[in-house]
Amino acid sequence: MNYIADLHIHSPYSRATSKESSLAGLAGWAGIKGINVVGTGDFTHPAWFGKLQEELEPAEAGFFRLKDSRSVVAPLAGISLPEQPVRFMLSAEVSCIYKRHGQVRKVHNLLYVPDFASAGRINARLAAIGNVVSDGRPILGLDSRDLLEIVLEEAPEGFLVPAHIWTPWFSLFGSKSGFDSIEECFGDLSMHIFALETGLSSDPAMNRLISGLDRFALISNSDCHSPQKLGREANLFSTGFDYFSMRDAIRGNRRETFSATIEFFPEEGKYHADGHRDCRVCLEPVESRWLNGRCPVCGRALTIGVLHRVMELADRDEPRLPEDAPAVFSLIPLPEIISEILGVGVASKKVAGQFARIVARFGSEFDLLLKTELDGISRFSPVLGEAVARIRNSRVIRRSGYDGEFGVIKVFSEEEKKELIGAFGEN
Ligand SMILES: [Zn+2]
Ligand SMILES: [Zn+2]
Repeated sequence: MNYIADLHIHSPYSRATSKESSLAGLAGWAGIKGINVVGTGDFTHPAWFGKLQEELEPAEAGFFRLKDSRSVVAPLAGISLPEQPVRFMLSAEVSCIYKRHGQVRKVHNLLYVPDFASAGRINARLAAIGNVVSDGRPILGLDSRDLLEIVLEEAPEGFLVPAHIWTPWFSLFGSKSGFDSIEECFGDLSMHIFALETGLSSDPAMNRLISGLDRFALISNSDCHSPQKLGREANLFSTGFDYFSMRDAIRGNRRETFSATIEFFPEEGKYHADGHRDCRVCLEPVESRWLNGRCPVCGRALTIGVLHRVMELADRDEPRLPEDAPAVFSLIPLPEIISEILGVGVASKKVAGQFARIVARFGSEFDLLLKTELDGISRFSPVLGEAVARIRNSRVIRRSGYDGEFGVIKVFSEEEKKELIGAFGEN
């Protein structure tokens, strides 16, 4: 079966998350975006874990469904949910902060398990180490390697994936407190790591500049804190619709079963380039190197971004992607496309209205962006048809994100936009 999975999200028990991130709320948004499997996030949090056990029941092996499917309602007026209901998979993220090789390390790691018993055993071990209650993504003084050991001991069918591996502050390769190789981080247990999450600011081409990462699959997820942002990155599978088949497809890393990833254009990620947000300084790696990593405005150390770190560790001039590697689709989320065309804010009612209209017509956001014939989209709205055509060909205008500030990806130039505003088309 062909299906789409977003395996990294956060519950309302994580900091700065939306109250709409209930299981029913997530299922509703996943449905209209065209996502079939959603990570629950935060299974380490006692209250969320309680909700998961209360509201979910086993479906296909290792997947769960809502006991009360009627609790899911379409999140926008005028659209109906797809017949294929959404499944959940037990997932969590742990922030490991610890000393290794004489330096402080801060690494986020994702955990996946197929059943409540395994999650419960991991939770008991983690609760004995530190506070798992104050945040849905617990901060523990626990070495990444030792976290992996706990997963292997308590959940033999579980797996661990280092999260958003390039972000500066909290990741395996992060410029502030990361490592230079997977082996340095996981030591004798490195062979149990088979996938890495690329994060919003990097894409597979960037990662494939580093030969040390060749043996790892690259997965992509939204890491969303509100359900509207589900699927801004995601994974496409063509394999059995269950936890074990999906895990094996990731591990196998062949297009036949792990078909593709959906990516941000990496410049849109909020740590793509180097810079200082407060000083409004955004620099390319060559520029910040020229400045010895110092901000030209305030003189303090710059936040070194993802592109810079990738270039530091790269040992190839050109990315090398195996022929049967998963395909890569770089997309702009539909609400952002509509917002650009209409010239109004992405969270506005107007955008929500058009989003609902488009989804009602084309089935789901991913159906529109990935599958629908361009002719059909253009008949509905010529401007939208042109936008989707350009995105599919990666003909977009990019301004890089830096130091926590999201980048901006536009489809149309300022010149073009003057003619486009209001020209959405009503047919
Ligand atoms: Zn994280
Ligand atoms: Zn500065």
